[in-house]
Amino acid sequence: MVQINRERLLGDLTTLRSFGATGTGVVRPSLSDIDMQARAWLRDRMSDAGLRATIDGAANVVGLSPNDGPALVVGSHSDTQPTGGWLDGALGVIYGIEVARTLLENPDTAHLAIDAVAWCDEEATYTSCLGAKAFCGVLTDDDYSATNAEGESVAQALERVGVKGTEHERLDTTRHVGYLEAHIEQGPHLEQNGQRIGVVTSIVGLGGLRFEFVGEQNHAGTTPMAMRKDAGVALFEFATRARKRISAVASPSTVWTFGDAELHPGAESIIPGRASLLLQFRDPNSDVLDLIDAEMRSLVSEMTTEGPVDVVIDEVRERIAPTIMDAEFQQHLDAAAERHSSGAWVRMPSAAGHDPMVLAHHLPCAMLFIPSIGGISHDFAEDTSHDDIALGCQVLADAAVSILEAQRG
Ligand SMILES: [Zn+2]
Repeated sequence: MVQINRERLLGDLTTLRSFGATGTGVVRPSLSDIDMQARAWLRDRMSDAGLRATIDGAANVVGLSPNDGPALVVGSHSDTQPTGGWLDGALGVIYGIEVARTLLENPDTAHLAIDAVAWCDEEATYTSCLGAKAFCGVLTDDDYSATNAEGESVAQALERVGVKGTEHERLDTTRHVGYLEAHIEQGPHLEQNGQRIGVVTSIVGLGGLRFEFVGEQNHAGTTPMAMRKDAGVALFEFATRARKRISAVASPSTVWTFGDAELHPGAESIIPGRASLLLQFRDPNSDVLDLIDAEMRSLVSEMTTEGPVDVVIDEVRERIAPTIMDAEFQQHLDAAAERHSSGAWVRMPSAAGHDPMVLAHHLPCAMLFIPSIGGISHDFAEDTSHDDIALGCQVLADAAVSILEAQRG
């Protein structure tokens, strides 16, 4: 079996952390100067690993194995949230490089092909999963015109960083047989249950609904209670009933959030004439998402019938379906996890979005999680023990070998 190099892995993660380091965290939004400096360094590390590395037309860093296929694409994103942690994305990128070089330097596995990748803009500084979309050839005009907070478009940013006109590395279905990504869990489940490896079964789907409450604005002193059409009261009543309705149909994996609520005009002495409430819900199972949606629609018609305030429901976004991970790849990850962490691994859904939400439409995907200390992520305090970091890479390397050997027959 192959053996990853723990010190080399941790050393590269520490160097990548230095690009945009801010306290214990990292500020490296996609296509910023510091992000491009990190990408140039990643390209050089991929070259050092024996890969043919480039920064492509979407600012993806891609390192192609010198070996013929079947090849596995292994990596993650190297951009961060506006104020992010040092491991979100970075972990999977350095794993990709470490797995590639570990296999190439071992005579037993030197014939196997790993193409390492650092995707651009998974975190949606401009548009989510920009690099993965480019790799799959599904970038749209809307993606190119998407802007960051400063109003710069993707097209302008790619020109500014000097990759406009550079070719895009593309998924090659005659070569690429799948995609593997390791990531920190970004939640508390592994740590709380004493598990060290999570084999991801699916990435949860997501629905978003907006509820508008239409009542009648009036004087808060002179309007008798019986005459009121208070949109604010209706909103709070709706939210209370919604909590019970959702709980009744939720699975243990369901999470849901009222992320915003507004009363209009929002003044002490005015009965709100209108109000709005935003609901987001996530689950690995489409049926559960459908049930929650149906419960909300029935509650809306129930409350509108009861009066005195009308409730209107609207979709905030198109429903995102759950992304199912490849069944065979999961078995390879299970076996590698059991070999190195017997009894301390678990299959689990991902509650956060990742690049496979795009990639899995085009090639088989699998993901591996390692614990997040305290379940903290998207924060400077994000961290994972060095032992868990090393273990995750070893499991990923073993799984990559067994997947590729199985592909070669
Ligand atoms: Zn991430």
